[in-house]
Amino acid sequence: RDYSKDDIRQMAKDENVKFLRLMFTDLFGTIKNVEVPISQLDKLLDNKLMFDGSSIDGFVRIEESDMYLYPDLSTWMIFPWSTERGKIARVICEVYTTDGKPFEGDPRNNLIRVLNDMRKAGFTDFNIGPEPEFFLFKMDENGKPTTELNDKGSYFDMAPMDLGENCRREIVLTLEEMGFDVEAAHHEVAPGQHEIDFKYADALTAADNIQTFKLVVKTIARKYGLYATFMPKPLTGINGSGMHLNMSLFHDKGNAFYDEKGNMQLSEDAFHFLGGLLKHARSFTAICNPIVNSYKRLVPGYEAPVYVAWSGSNRSPLIRVPNSRGLSTRLELRSVDPAANPYLAIAVVLEAGLDGLRNQLAPREAIDRNIYRMDAEERQENHITNLPDTLHNALKDLAADDVMRNAMGHHLFQSFMEAKNLEYNSYRTQVSQWEREQYLELY
Ligand code: GLN
Ligand code: MG
Ligand code: MG
Ligand code: MG
Repeated sequence: RDYSKDDIRQMAKDENVKFLRLMFTDLFGTIKNVEVPISQLDKLLDNKLMFDGSSIDGFVRIEESDMYLYPDLSTWMIFPWSTERGKIARVICEVYTTDGKPFEGDPRNNLIRVLNDMRKAGFTDFNIGPEPEFFLFKMDENGKPTTELNDKGSYFDMAPMDLGENCRREIVLTLEEMGFDVEAAHHEVAPGQHEIDFKYADALTAADNIQTFKLVVKTIARKYGLYATFMPKPLTGINGSGMHLNMSLFHDKGNAFYDEKGNMQLSEDAFHFLGGLLKHARSFTAICNPIVNSYKRLVPGYEAPVYVAWSGSNRSPLIRVPNSRGLSTRLELRSVDPAANPYLAIAVVLEAGLDGLRNQLAPREAIDRNIYRMDAEERQENHITNLPDTLHNALKDLAADDVMRNAMGHHLFQSFMEAKNLEYNSYRTQVSQWEREQYLELY
C-alpha cells in the first residue's frame, strides 16, 4: 500500500501506537530493530532519524558510524500483539549515509540496485514465492530451546490436541491479520517440522515478508512454550529445513517465462534464465546456504538437492519447473535454506538469471530420471556437477565468480567473505564429539 506521511500520522493516532520499531537486516540476515517512542515519528518521516551503525555486523567502522534510517512507508504495519501501554508499529527502513546516499552495505539497498538493473534490461517485476520450513522444539524451564520435538510422541499424544498444530494454526491466523495471503500450511516430512507458504510478491516485498514471517513464527511459538528454528539441519538423520524459491519474471506483456508455443510451453527467456541459474548455481550457494550447518542439509537422502540439474517432472533436482503455465509459469530453486539473507539470496539468483538472458545461455537437457540412482560415471556423461559440499568450497566458488560478486556489490562481498572465512575457520578448528567417539579408543 502506498501510504502518505499523513496517512501514517493518522493511523498512528487512531490506533494508539506508542512505539515505532524500525527494522532493517544485517549482512547475516538477522533482523535489527531500533525502537523509538512515537514522539520521534516526524523525525522518522522526514528521514532525519539517526542510529549508530558501528554495532551492526558487516556495517561500518567506528569512525563512520552515524547512519540514517529512511522508512519505506509502504511497509508500515501495526503488530497485532500490543503492550499494556499501547501498540507497536513497525516500518522497514533503508540505511543511508550522512551524505544522503544509500549505504552499500545494506542488503536491502543492494537488492533495490539489482532490481533497477533488471528494469533497465526491460523487465518490470521479479516475483518470488517462498516455501520456508522450520522446526518447533520444546523449551526448558529457563526458556532455552532444547532439541526435543514436541510431536514425536506416541500415537496417543497426537490425539486430541497437538501443540505444534495449534501453534501453526495461530501463526497462520496472525500472518493473515498482518495482511499475508497464506496459501498452504502443513506438517513436513520430519517430526516437529512445518512449512507455511505465502503468496508470491515482487522481490523486495517477498524479502521483507520472509523477515516478518520469521519474526511472527518465533513470537507465536514462544507463546506456546515452543522454540521455532530456521536452522537448516538441526537433527542428524532426518530432513532439514529448506526455503524453496519459486520465481518468475514479468514484462509489460505478462509472464516472460511463458510461451504457449515454446518447448514445454516455456519461452526462450525462461530457458536463458534457467541457463544462468545453472551456470552460477555453485557460486551462489554460499549466499543461499550461508552457514556451516547448511551443508549438512545438502546431502543425498533427505529431499534436498545435491547435484546441479533441472527437470520438468522430477522433484529431486536443484531446479524444477512446476506444472502450472500461463501467468504462474515459474522456476523453483530448491537449494536455498532459511538461514539465507533473503535480500542477498534474491539479488544473486536474479543476477544469475539476468546473466543467462544477456548471454543467451542455453541449459543442458532436463534430467528426468532420478539422479540419486546414477553412478558417478553416468552423472559425468550427463554433465551433472555437484553443489559445493562445504561452506569453505562454496566460498571459493563465490570468490571466483565476478557476476555473483557484482550482484552483491563490493562492500557486501568483502564483509561477507571476511566474516564467513572466520566462521569456517572457527568450525574447522573445533574437535567434535563425533571425532572423539570414532577415534579416541581406536588410536
Ligand atoms: N525439507 C526438504 C528440504 O530440505 C524439502 C521437502 C519438501 O518440501 N519436499 O529441502
Ligand atoms: Mg513445499
Ligand atoms: Mg516442503
Ligand atoms: Mg517446493
